[in-house]
Amino acid sequence: MADAGWLSRRDFSPTRGVVGRTALKAVRTASILEPVAMLADTARFRTDDPDALVRASLACPICLRSDDLEWHAALDGYDPSVECRCPRCEESWQVYLEPQQALRLALMGAD
Ligand SMILES: [Zn+2]
Repeated sequence: MADAGWLSRRDFSPTRGVVGRTALKAVRTASILEPVAMLADTARFRTDDPDALVRASLACPICLRSDDLEWHAALDGYDPSVECRCPRCEESWQVYLEPQQALRLALMGAD
């Protein structure tokens, strides 16, 4: 009858921020990797740069080649960009341009 109504000393012991394993929910850490979206970059050339630097800014991010690239420019609209494809790496990527860069690239393609 001595322990009735009394909590043991263990019930009042400080936890120091540590909780038992059962207090935490198990979190699933594994996930399924999704396919990577198309690579994207921003153009890094000035409008007064020579054509070679303009072409270099569209270079393949993998092999760094800038010749023989297939590219399709979407220069009209709100967000001008160039979709590029490297035939060697078979990789596609998109380069976004500022309006002045889009004009510069359009004038270069007109030659
Ligand atoms: Zn490449």
